[in-house]
Amino acid sequence: MHRRKFCKTALAAGLTVALTGCDISPSGTKNQASSTINAITGAGNEVSIERAAVTELAESLQGSMHLPGDEAYDVVRKVWNGMIDKHPAMVVQCGSVNDVSLAVQFAGQRNLLVAVKGGGHSFPGKSTCDGGMMIDLSQMHGVDVDVDAKTARVAGGALLGHLDGAALAHNLVTTAGIVSHTGVGGFTLGGGMGRTDRLHGLAIDNLLAATVVTATGEVLRASDAENADLFWAIRGGGGNFGVVTEFVYRLHPFNPSVYGGNLFYSFDQARDFLHFYAEFNETLPDEASVEPQFVFDDSRGPVLMVEVCYAGDHAAGEQVMAPLVAFGKRLSGELGAVSYQQMQTSVDAMLAHGGLYYLKSGFFIELTEASIDAMVGNFEGDHLPFTWFQHLGGASARVAPDATAYPHRNVRFNYGIMDAWGDPAESDMRIAAVRRYYKALEPHMKGFYTNLNDDTEKKTRGNFGENYPRLVEVKNRYDPTNLFRLNANVQPTV
Ligand SMILES: Cc1cc2nc3c(=O)[nH]c(=O)nc-3n(C[C@H](O)[C@H](O)[C@H](O)COP(=O)(O)OP(=O)(O)OC[C@H]3O[C@@H](n4cnc5c(N)ncnc54)[C@H](O)[C@@H]3O)c2cc1C
Repeated sequence: MHRRKFCKTALAAGLTVALTGCDISPSGTKNQASSTINAITGAGNEVSIERAAVTELAESLQGSMHLPGDEAYDVVRKVWNGMIDKHPAMVVQCGSVNDVSLAVQFAGQRNLLVAVKGGGHSFPGKSTCDGGMMIDLSQMHGVDVDVDAKTARVAGGALLGHLDGAALAHNLVTTAGIVSHTGVGGFTLGGGMGRTDRLHGLAIDNLLAATVVTATGEVLRASDAENADLFWAIRGGGGNFGVVTEFVYRLHPFNPSVYGGNLFYSFDQARDFLHFYAEFNETLPDEASVEPQFVFDDSRGPVLMVEVCYAGDHAAGEQVMAPLVAFGKRLSGELGAVSYQQMQTSVDAMLAHGGLYYLKSGFFIELTEASIDAMVGNFEGDHLPFTWFQHLGGASARVAPDATAYPHRNVRFNYGIMDAWGDPAESDMRIAAVRRYYKALEPHMKGFYTNLNDDTEKKTRGNFGENYPRLVEVKNRYDPTNLFRLNANVQPTV
């Protein structure tokens, strides 16, 4: 029974697990000589943990525990970005809220370094660590849609594809990001942008309630009515305050066939296009998401691509987009009826698990002559990154900057600069190209999206702006020892 708990995930993953691959034999006796496990505390100190205590925790889980040497360990410790290769001392793959609470208590009592993994899509690898405990929520991915109430209860380890799939089956939607294998956890806690954020707000604007396991292992409900300070903080403040085991979202009636598509232009039209876009943007209704991207096409070289998603009446969409369709000289592409779900999965394969990725990003409040010059003028060199706009404004901007912990309500565009490659020998050169381009743009940016950029403590503090002191108060209350520190960290002051 005990051994089954250790290994069942490995079996589920189709791996052949030899008896000796697990740490505990069928009789519960130890296979390994050492009676302790080496680990790291949150402060970075080495610590020895009694193996018997780890075994006891493993035996009490509905989910499973994985330690180095267990065959599944190398599968479950992985995160999306192949640049990140860390080795936690233990991976607790939780199967229930109680499992999360037990894991948090275990780590808290020993001051262990803790990483919480939702979908594992943090670019800088915030959901794993060397030597600490990884709390892996991937087995907790249920979605329960209440069609009459238009709500979705979503387990903390679900992916955006689980949420989209369950909601769209009932012609309902809430704002989800553009890659379906991203986790709802990190996505929502940092804000949550997607093709419908101008229409329905960010993911946090649709969050009605959450269940949070705080640093003591206590399970709290957070909403406007219960623990409202915690509810405020988790809407933009990231994983600083606990492990969210359930999100409850508001859903909206939705026609799953949107009006949209991709339009391609030669890169020499990019500057004119961005000038046009700056003005066109001011005319757009909330239903419209228009997102220019600079992409590198093997045969055509650098190309401007414009992705359109009009989530409303198609005839109205056609009228709204007429000036865009009339712009410049298109290389290819047209607008028409498109399945929203198809759009929401269209780049899944391109951004697959295990690739090598590097990203920098920043916000633009408006597009100026200088920022357009910087975007277009610096897009040159041997290796060009992939850049894209995330179109904000609309409903996402009609929320007060202090209504939630996410303060950037005046931002109109999130701008991402990324590269993806397969050969580790190219990493330095690829990273340098992204950084070079980012450096040219940074002076024009106003803050950044904590879900994408990783930055210094000082910049992170400044990025939360006037909301930071309130975040510190909530941190002091729910996580005074900074157990949850692998995130856009709010430093406790108690
Ligand atoms: C391919 C790709 C596409 C993306 N597209 C979008 C997009 O369209 N819109 C957008 O807004 N963002 C997007 N992002 C950014 C995304 O929001 C962040 O990477 C986010 O952190 C991913 O969440 P995750 O749960 O998968 O990440 P993880 O790596 O698991 O976690 C990220 C952070 O959140 C914490 N965390 C995760 N789950 C929980 C939980 N349940 N409780 C407490 N803490 C938790 C982790 O501890 C960590 O600090 C994208 C990222 C990638 C890699």
